[in-house]
Amino acid sequence: MSDSQREEVIYNCHIHTFTMNNVPDNYIPKILIKPMRIKWLRKVVVKALSFVDLRSKHDIFERYAKFMDVSSTKDQLSIFKIIQEYYPSTTRFVVMPMDMSHMGAGAIPQKIDAQHEELAQLAKTMDKAVIPFAAIDPRRNNLDKALDDLFIKKKYSGINFTGIKLYPPLGYKPGGKKLDPLFAFANEHKLPITAHCSRGGVRQLNFTKKKAHDYTNPANYRKVLDKYPDMRLCLAHFGGDEEWKKYLEHPRSKDNWLSDIRGMMQEYDNLYADISYSIFSFTDNTPILKVLLQDKAIKERVLFGSDFYMAEKERYEEKRLSITLRAMLGEDLFWQIANVNPKRFLFGIQ
Ligand SMILES: [Zn+2]
Repeated sequence: MSDSQREEVIYNCHIHTFTMNNVPDNYIPKILIKPMRIKWLRKVVVKALSFVDLRSKHDIFERYAKFMDVSSTKDQLSIFKIIQEYYPSTTRFVVMPMDMSHMGAGAIPQKIDAQHEELAQLAKTMDKAVIPFAAIDPRRNNLDKALDDLFIKKKYSGINFTGIKLYPPLGYKPGGKKLDPLFAFANEHKLPITAHCSRGGVRQLNFTKKKAHDYTNPANYRKVLDKYPDMRLCLAHFGGDEEWKKYLEHPRSKDNWLSDIRGMMQEYDNLYADISYSIFSFTDNTPILKVLLQDKAIKERVLFGSDFYMAEKERYEEKRLSITLRAMLGEDLFWQIANVNPKRFLFGIQ
C-alpha cells in the first residue's frame, strides 16, 4: 500500500444518531414501552411479537429493540462514539436525522429543531468526522425560513447543514407540487439529497404497505430529475434488501427497484445510490454489487454507507463490514465507493 492510499478517508454516507426522544409516543403501543426498556423482558416481548403479526409489522419491534439497545438512555454524541470505534479514526460519517412528527403517531419528546441543534453541536464538536444532513418534511411549519436557517444562515450552532434527508413513506410523495420548492432550493444551493428508498422502514401510521411503496417508488424521481438534471440525488439502500434478493430469485421480474434504480442511474448523470443496510446481507449481496460495479455509470455513483444503527440486528457486524467489503471489492472499487464518489456527491468535488 502506498502512503497516499494510507491517508485516504473513508466516507460512511448513511448513519443515524437520533435517540428515543425523536420517536413519537405512539410509535409502539404504550403498554410495551416499559417492558421494552428492560433488556431480558424486551427479548421475551420481541420473541412473542414475532409470532403475533401485530399491525402486520412486527419487524418494527425487532428494530425497536435494537434501537433501545443503542439509544435508550443516550444522546447523539454517545451513539456517535459507538460507531466511531468501528472505523479508522479519520473516517467521516454522514448523519441522517429523522422527523417523525407528521406520521400520525403522536407527540415527539424532542422536536425536530432541537434534534437538528443537537446534531449541529455534534458536528461542531467532532469537526470533520460528522457531516450533518437535515431532515426536511415539507409539511413542517415555516418551510422557507427553516431552509434558510439550516442551510444559509448558520442558525444552528453556527454551522450550515451539508444536505437534505427525505423519507417519503412518512407521508409526502416526490414528483408533486408539495416537494417541488424543496427540490428547487436544493438545486439552487447545490445541496445533495438522500431519500429513503426501500420497501422496509417506517411509514405514515394509516398507510397500507402498498401506499407506502407507492410513495417510495424510485420512478417518482424521474419527473424531479428531468426538471433538475444537475441536482445530486441519492436513493438510499439501492432499493433495499428484499429487492436485491428478488433480483437473484426472480431475474425476469419487471417490478424490481434494484433494476429500476440501476436503469435510472444509466439515464441520469447525478443520480446516486447508497448500499446502506442492503450490504448487511453480505454473502448474497456483495457479489451482486461487484458485478453491478463493472458498469461505469454505476461504479461512479454508488456510495458506501451502513445505516448504523438500524442494521445492528443483522448478523453481520458493522466492525467487519468495511474491512471485508474492501477485501472482496479490491482497493480500486472500494475507494471509488467509499471516497471518490462520496466527495463528488457531498461536495461536488470532481
Ligand atoms: Zn437509514
